[in-house]
Amino acid sequence: MKVLVLNCGSSSLKFQLIETSPERIENQTEEVLAEGLVEKIGMAESTVRYSSHKGDAVKEKPVILEHAAAVETILYHLTHGKHGVISKPEDIDAVGHRIVHGGEKFSASVKITPDVMEKIRECVALAPLHNPPNILGYEVAHQYLPNTPHVAVFDTAFHQTMPPHAYFYALPYSLYERFQIRRYGFHGSSHRYLAFRIHQLTGKPMEETNIITVHLGNGSSMAAIKGGKSIDTSMGMTPLEGLVMGTRAGDIDPAIILFLMERENLELNQANNLLNKHSGLQGFSGISNDMRELVAQADAGNERAKLTIELLCYRVRKYIGAYAAALGHVDHIVFSAGIGENSSIVRRKSCEGLEFMGVKFDSERNEALNHKEGLISTDDSAVKVWVVPTNEEIVIARDTMRCVVEG
Ligand code: ADP
Repeated sequence: MKVLVLNCGSSSLKFQLIETSPERIENQTEEVLAEGLVEKIGMAESTVRYSSHKGDAVKEKPVILEHAAAVETILYHLTHGKHGVISKPEDIDAVGHRIVHGGEKFSASVKITPDVMEKIRECVALAPLHNPPNILGYEVAHQYLPNTPHVAVFDTAFHQTMPPHAYFYALPYSLYERFQIRRYGFHGSSHRYLAFRIHQLTGKPMEETNIITVHLGNGSSMAAIKGGKSIDTSMGMTPLEGLVMGTRAGDIDPAIILFLMERENLELNQANNLLNKHSGLQGFSGISNDMRELVAQADAGNERAKLTIELLCYRVRKYIGAYAAALGHVDHIVFSAGIGENSSIVRRKSCEGLEFMGVKFDSERNEALNHKEGLISTDDSAVKVWVVPTNEEIVIARDTMRCVVEG
């Protein structure tokens, strides 16, 4: 089955066309037939990148004023006589859409019907920046592929197994009743992929395995996964809570914002920008939100860059300790995403001092392993530490296939 995976942002549309089937999942032989993205939609000059499994690559800069034209461009390349991988759009068997917020309404992926779309729209209040472009992505794809099944895969769904003591905030209960204010968590497809991958790598049943997953990208989050189910995660009602991220502050004393709003006369959107766009690695270092740049500066002796890296790693270490307590027993810690897969120094520092809980970190293995899968603890470490490149698209493709096959 050929599944088109779409991830639609406000000015971008990422895609992968994945060949999958129950047998391919079982044998791990799923194949990305083509992938790419359209960026800067609606701007003076857009960027289109496309590559196929046959080795063809296209990069062009047309004017793409709206998302519908982006979908049309993607279909044009996928069906192109030379570098295409299918002969007509109808060869796409299903479309899987990444939807950021499913609120409490969705604890699993679902085939999109008018009723489902209505419920997704009701979640817009919880993710006003993310859900509208996701919904638009569905609308324009449905316009071009009206007879193809479409499936919604939610970032929040995997964390719907959290127990109430993990997802409630100690705020007046009426705020939960009125506005559904609670922890939801995000990056669900990534955390789920990592847990499943550990199950594949170790051959141990998911039900018997406790895992701490550490997704460190531009946005970062961790999850405590007990027997295959998320029991806690670091992002909250929005993706702002938790770890130190590229430009997001993560955990802070909420009173700081009240203090600043009063002292600096901050407007709502200024406070929002401060926390989401001008904080984190970028804001604290004053250098960059990119870990590569920070490591280079730290190596060159820049003290603030060094401290920024310490800040990020200490927060990860604290969460590992917290989730060890939440899980009661940890079998695996897994690092993933841009920073987790590539930065050996962040992995090493995040695991410093964890010997007390059974982590025997292997520095040589850690240094040798960048953007590859493998173990970075010793073989006899009670808690195994891994690097696993994440693959959210494959999770979306698998769920899409299952929802279509199972009706
Ligand atoms: P997103 O959350 O946008 O999907 P990614 O998971 O792609 O982000 O992570 C992007 C981040 O990964 C970059 O901002 C950079 O900090 C980090 N990164 C990428 N490559 C490296 C590398 N070789 N070394 C250290 N950090 C890296």
